[in-house]
Amino acid sequence: MNRLDQYVPIVGEDVIGQLRQLASYLKGLKVVHVNSTREGGGVAEILSWLIPLKQELGIDASWEVITGTPQFYQCTKYMHNALQGQQFEIRDALLKEYERVNELNAESLRSKLEEADIVAIHDPQPAALIEHCPNRRGKWIWRCHIDVSRPYRPVWRYLRQRVYLYDASIWSLSEFSQPLPHPLYLIAPSIDPLSPKNIDLDTDELNRAYDRFGLDPRRPIITQVSRFDRFKDPQGVIRAYRLVKAFLPIQLVLAGGGASDDPEGEEVLAQVRAIAGDDQDIHIIVLPSDAHREINAIQRISDIVVQKSTREGFGLTVTEAMWKGKPVIGGDTGGIRLQVVNHHTGFLVNSPEGAALRIRYLLKHRDRLEEIGAKARQFVLENFLITRHLREYLTLMLAVLSGNQDRIEEPRLT
Ligand code: UDP
Repeated sequence: MNRLDQYVPIVGEDVIGQLRQLASYLKGLKVVHVNSTREGGGVAEILSWLIPLKQELGIDASWEVITGTPQFYQCTKYMHNALQGQQFEIRDALLKEYERVNELNAESLRSKLEEADIVAIHDPQPAALIEHCPNRRGKWIWRCHIDVSRPYRPVWRYLRQRVYLYDASIWSLSEFSQPLPHPLYLIAPSIDPLSPKNIDLDTDELNRAYDRFGLDPRRPIITQVSRFDRFKDPQGVIRAYRLVKAFLPIQLVLAGGGASDDPEGEEVLAQVRAIAGDDQDIHIIVLPSDAHREINAIQRISDIVVQKSTREGFGLTVTEAMWKGKPVIGGDTGGIRLQVVNHHTGFLVNSPEGAALRIRYLLKHRDRLEEIGAKARQFVLENFLITRHLREYLTLMLAVLSGNQDRIEEPRLT
């Protein structure tokens, strides 16, 4: 069975039929996606399923990855932080390196990029390629995966000089975007229900997870899965847990990735360990980055999932938990607001006290916990699965190629 057909039992035949219908206008279209890493991070994850699905639909899609120098990545990291609001002046020498690396990559990719019908450039790293493709004949789209709602102005102005050359841009949330002289599109991220992170697991595997992580199946489990990052507020989660623990015999799981390559991650992890002290019911579980089934199992054996971030781009962990029928208690910020409809698919909170109140409420009202969990799953089914994401990409490609035409009659391949 081909990949798309495997989604039929989840989303229904019509959804897949619609994708095929939309794609019929785009057959043979040359589409090139460019980002800066083949693995690690949400962008690479999305591209790794998006490209094969587009190919299966008859689109000539490919994925190119630019290569850079340590100074280049230093520069783009500063850029990333500044675009997300950090006041930071980037030295000219680093910006020159950014430009040089983009020029070098453009040399090797130029013919492919100039021949493509659509080029999708992801994030700031390869954004300057466009300047070095003067004979481009297709439409160029800049896909921004980060929150540029309150950027450090000088850095945004620098990047904007490149971004304004594009024919369109895509953003995850309207509030993350900036005014630009081309059409701006909104496409929210999504999860793949068939990936190891989200696929159904059998009871044996779930039972093994209790044993493996030393959890008691008879007592409620409250979980937060996230990198050890201050913006994810793990300390606030522990505080909420303690407020609940005074009344109910709960267990807390804080599951996060290995922090060895991230000095700040290690520091936050050390602080979290210190705050947890010798409490046997706080389980800090550090997992390798490919422990997808383990995270899946932990989310499934939890009663409630918390994502108490104080700043959050989208929060795939929220989507993943909701898909597993878990009510999510999330920080009232960024993309969490898009997913957690307060009192319906979960609760939005602004403090550890608020989180504690909602945890107690849900544990005391199991019927509400089930009801909210079921609504959460349905909400993800309707809004945040990759089939919706793919449909929006296909629609966008049609829109970009059709310009101001009122009707889309037939493929317009140049
Ligand atoms: N994740 C993981 N292992 C960890 C921590 C997180 O696999 O130890 C995954 C998590 O399941 C989710 C992604 O990494 O798929 C994190 O995405 P999210 O949007 O929640 O947060 P980000 O880390 O991008 O800020």
